[in-house]
Amino acid sequence: MIRPRLPVRPIGLTPLRPIKSSLSAEQQLTLIRQSRFKTTSTSRSSIGKQSSISSSFFIPHHRPTISSSSSSKILSRGFSIPSKNFNAKYPVISILIRLGLSSILGIVVITGSILIHDAFTYSERHVDRVPCNPLSLKPRLGGKKNLPILEVNLDDEEDDVKKAMKDKPRLVVIGGGWGAVALLQSLPPHAYNVTLISPQTYFAFTPLLPSACVGTVEPRSLVEPLRKLIARVRGHYLMGSAEDIDMAERLLEVEVPKDGGEGTMRCYVPYDKLVIACGSTTNNHGVKGLEHCYQLKTVPDAQAIRRKVMANLELASLPTTTPEERKRLLSFVICGGGPTGVEFAAELADMMAEDVLKYFPKLLSNEVKVTVVQSRDHILNTYSEKISQYAEKRFARNDVDIVINARVQEVMPDKVVLSIKDPKDKDGKPSSKEIEAGFVLWSTGIAMQPFTKRLVELLPNQYHSKAVEVDSFLRVQGAPQGTVYALGDAATVHTNLIGDLYELWDRFDANKDGTLDYDEWQAMVKHIRKHYPLASKYFGKIRDVFDEFDKDKDEKLTLNEVAAMFLGMSKKVTSYPATAQVAAQQGKYLGGMFSKLAHQRKTLEVNGIKDLSDDAYYHPFEYFHLGSLAYIGNSAVFDYDGFSLAGGLLAMYAWRSIYWSEQTSMRTRMLLMLDWVKRGIFGRDLSKF
Ligand SMILES: Cc1cc2nc3c(=O)[nH]c(=O)nc-3n(C[C@H](O)[C@H](O)[C@H](O)COP(=O)(O)OP(=O)(O)OC[C@H]3O[C@@H](n4cnc5c(N)ncnc54)[C@H](O)[C@@H]3O)c2cc1C
Repeated sequence: MIRPRLPVRPIGLTPLRPIKSSLSAEQQLTLIRQSRFKTTSTSRSSIGKQSSISSSFFIPHHRPTISSSSSSKILSRGFSIPSKNFNAKYPVISILIRLGLSSILGIVVITGSILIHDAFTYSERHVDRVPCNPLSLKPRLGGKKNLPILEVNLDDEEDDVKKAMKDKPRLVVIGGGWGAVALLQSLPPHAYNVTLISPQTYFAFTPLLPSACVGTVEPRSLVEPLRKLIARVRGHYLMGSAEDIDMAERLLEVEVPKDGGEGTMRCYVPYDKLVIACGSTTNNHGVKGLEHCYQLKTVPDAQAIRRKVMANLELASLPTTTPEERKRLLSFVICGGGPTGVEFAAELADMMAEDVLKYFPKLLSNEVKVTVVQSRDHILNTYSEKISQYAEKRFARNDVDIVINARVQEVMPDKVVLSIKDPKDKDGKPSSKEIEAGFVLWSTGIAMQPFTKRLVELLPNQYHSKAVEVDSFLRVQGAPQGTVYALGDAATVHTNLIGDLYELWDRFDANKDGTLDYDEWQAMVKHIRKHYPLASKYFGKIRDVFDEFDKDKDEKLTLNEVAAMFLGMSKKVTSYPATAQVAAQQGKYLGGMFSKLAHQRKTLEVNGIKDLSDDAYYHPFEYFHLGSLAYIGNSAVFDYDGFSLAGGLLAMYAWRSIYWSEQTSMRTRMLLMLDWVKRGIFGRDLSKF
């Protein structure tokens, strides 16, 4: 085959050459095309160097041959990537072309993948003749109140895995928050027949609720459906709320919607193990007029706050609104200077400075007032002093007022009445102050949910006012051994050594001589370390403590000496904070404990052991504090055991990264990322629904 010698010329400058007369008509035509192509192409320096182009990513190149197909091959080079010479000469253009081509290929591949995925996802699937146990449709009545007992679930017969699971021990979880979800995530997949009961169908990422109140993030980016979370353990979700319990018959009384959600009815859910993770409610501290306040605990709370804030801004922008009314509408009062109140105030101040100033009449920005009312002498008083002071300075810069040492006396429809005490004048009478308010947030600590209150009423030895007391294995005190557990905000780990003094004394005064010798004392400390891990932190070396309290140096401790020691310790011991961190660690702990029990189930059954005490095979719960974080308006603070870090944008990005990584799914991570980018580019969504 004749191969034409093709000229080597700079691109774009090559004039058309006369065609050799010895070539056939077809060869001549090819050469004309070749030559034309060369004159217009910017991607090659020489066809004679075509072999070098074969390094292209996309189109394999061959030396041109004179054949019937060669013309189309040569033409196709117009879409290939540049040659080495061209790359060397025009590196930027070459890179741009490569980028362009790679992007096109990327888009084609992604679009193709989506289309292929969709073709399978949207394929029609018919499910016929799903087996269903008649008892699941018409449960038998029973229990003390003769209510339907939900022993069988609608999907128990659905497939072989579910059929096998219905005979596994029933693990019922009350709540779908931090503790419950951490428990679900650490349970082995098919070890328990799990039922999760919660009135809300989703898990909510509470630390970012303040951001959702002003549209920095969308509520949907903070929630994950419980059904998706429970699918891993092939569990069941029941939309309802726990109301009462019969611990003798192991029946949980649950209120579920009926008549299409118009009314409610009660039924029993049987359990072998019950985990109470129903969180807490807001503490009203007996203050009058809280019906005029908003609270921030749930996603609907955040949505209601967002509506109210936007409504106030729009009403204040109306020409028909009087100046006095405008001032009131634009006064936002936050009762509570803890992390939730502070973060909400920071988000609100950010919104006022960034979006309201830009899109609302400037008059509004002048008149907006955000006030934080705090009963102590600093905001964020559970953090280090350095952090509190940093936050206060930051708030002063962002025009957020802080009223310290102030207690709310009453909330009225248009104002908040405070009594303020001067800490220097301890005997002085508190002064009274009124702040007019168009919006009031009540965020002042936690109280028991109605179900937790009911449980505490039923048990004889529960004395705590804010939560149900559990031991160091998270077992509810006074409930039948190994059946009822509680965690998170709903629970508090029992630390009251003084209350248990007589019991401990009886147990460890082995020779009953009315004193503890050193050996008896050692046995008692070993027990305390295991069962009261919070208190045992305050024990020094066993020998040193013994010597310190053995006042008469007779190598024996009397009851009074031990009582003095326990009293001193009780003053120092604080219970775990009501945080997501504690709830999640407790959920994980219980998940680990139940997994271990499930692994040993067969051995226990073979040996005829039914009720194995948890302390026989598992360790008590211990909390590892990973530090506290708070957002304080385009900056964040971090506090860890005396080490504190406060800063501007960098700290804020660190704060965001931590919350981003803590998300329960990739879906919410993506949504959250988009929300932050969206706010950065377009600002917050200022519409009111
Ligand atoms: C605005 C805000 C910001 C916060 N920020 C942080 C933070 O930055 N860091 C941090 O560590 N902690 C933070 N917290 C605290 C943290 O959210 C709680 O400590 C944590 O949610 C407690 O977890 P939980 O599992 O005990 O309860 P929750 O997460 O509150 O879950 C309780 C669940 O129980 C359900 N439930 C309630 N009653 C019943 C019933 N009768 N029957 C069945 N289900 C019921 C609820 O619907 C809910 O699903 C914040 C809290 C709020 C409100």
